[in-house]
Amino acid sequence: MTIYKDHPLKIYNSLSNEKEIFTPIQDGHVGMYVCGPTVYSNVHLGNVRTFLSFDIIYRYLLHLGYKVRYVRNITDVGHLVDDADSGEDKIAKRARLEQLEPMEIVQRYTVDFHDILQKFNLLPPSIEPTATGHMIEQINVIQNIIDKGYAYESNGSVYFDVAKYSEDYDYGVLSHRDLIHTLDNSRPLDGQSDKRNEQGFALWKRADPHHIMRWPSPWSDGFPGWHTECTTMSTKYLGQRFDILGGGMDLKFPHHECEIAQGEASTGHAPVNYWLHANMLTLNGKKMSKSSGNNILPDEILAGDNPVLSKAFSASVTRFFMLQTHYRSIMDFSNEAILAAEKGYDRLMKAINSLSKLEPGNRSTLDIAGWEAKCYEALDDDFNTPILISHLFEGVTYINQLKDKSAILSATDLEHFNKGISTFVFDVLGLEMRSGVYDSYAEKLDGTIKLLIEIRNKVRADRNFTLSDQIRNRLAELAIKLNDSKEETTFNY
Ligand code: AMP
Ligand code: ZN
Repeated sequence: MTIYKDHPLKIYNSLSNEKEIFTPIQDGHVGMYVCGPTVYSNVHLGNVRTFLSFDIIYRYLLHLGYKVRYVRNITDVGHLVDDADSGEDKIAKRARLEQLEPMEIVQRYTVDFHDILQKFNLLPPSIEPTATGHMIEQINVIQNIIDKGYAYESNGSVYFDVAKYSEDYDYGVLSHRDLIHTLDNSRPLDGQSDKRNEQGFALWKRADPHHIMRWPSPWSDGFPGWHTECTTMSTKYLGQRFDILGGGMDLKFPHHECEIAQGEASTGHAPVNYWLHANMLTLNGKKMSKSSGNNILPDEILAGDNPVLSKAFSASVTRFFMLQTHYRSIMDFSNEAILAAEKGYDRLMKAINSLSKLEPGNRSTLDIAGWEAKCYEALDDDFNTPILISHLFEGVTYINQLKDKSAILSATDLEHFNKGISTFVFDVLGLEMRSGVYDSYAEKLDGTIKLLIEIRNKVRADRNFTLSDQIRNRLAELAIKLNDSKEETTFNY
């Protein structure tokens, strides 16, 4: 179904720092590149949050009927320990510490990455290219930048010439930093490095004799810089100008700023129209990260195996928990917060489970089209999942009204409602309902409440109002509401 024409999508573009109406380059098609993981250790929950944010964006674009080519790379070489271009390669370092081949490290953590993303129900990208698989293309991109005069070779390494680039372009457009000013005040690096100035970044690094990860090139046996691969692979699969590039907020600078510089230097124009950045997941108020150890691993949450956690949480509950915060806001992880999310998730799933069993009436007293429009409005407004979830809970209220017969829906509206719930909850948010769980759960709970109503009717007949009120009040404390009418007592929760 193609419905994107009815949905003017507003996307927050980090380049303008504003929400903009999304207009793809080619009508009906979207090219989206997301910076993938550096596969030198297990992904943590923070990484999952960022990839989940783009999973929602991908799912919604697909739902709207766009033909999406979604490219997410695997960084298997070139990401140095210090993002500012120095230190060891992260993968080579890990290989040295574990006495393994670098490609064994890459294989182990790529498998882990896929396994985790599958457990958390993230859709695979259309293409998942690796940096090592695109060495020739990277060398060509670097040569092109040298030919255009924006890079220079020095002692077998190649550096991007930020000073030269800044004469023609604006270095700092994305991170909105005054990089030119910093440049003017920066001292030349007297012999400490092959770089002409501090801001320059490596496109190619000559490998030391002991460095295992090395490839031949016109300049030296070496390896590409971290930023080179994304420029190379995004343009190879999506063209020299494409629609969306995304990643975590921490990639804005230097990584994405450098990608813009490389793109403009080689083609003369900006490579990407919309830059999207997902915000960080924090733990104890600090960014989750691999290197600091301040993190929770996805498998730990599934097993409840981390001192922060009081119990295990399913992948779907974790997903729901994360989607309660908008992707551009910082989110702090806490056991209390995910416990509360689990309650909400159970309430939603129980309601959805009972929706399929409802019988239609001969007319409608609820505005389903209006409800659906609000759900779309939330997603069209920069993929606002927390607002969507609040509308889904309004849907839960509807379901309870239908159950206790204080509202009715015609057969057409009931089907429309069922379809809407299923689209938003399962297709777009990617939540899953474990089959059978909510059935037996809901049946047992409903049976127990009916038994309590029977007992209450009996004690009321015996004029034991203290006990009958106690039953009603205790149920109310559990958010189970009894509704007395002349004929019968119904309930909702
Ligand atoms: P890396 O493997 O370190 O390159 O990270 C993979 C992705 O996860 C990148 O888009 C990062 O921006 C993102 N990321 C890293 N730490 C966090 C965090 N604490 N919360 C959310 N995203 C993160
Ligand atoms: Zn990248």
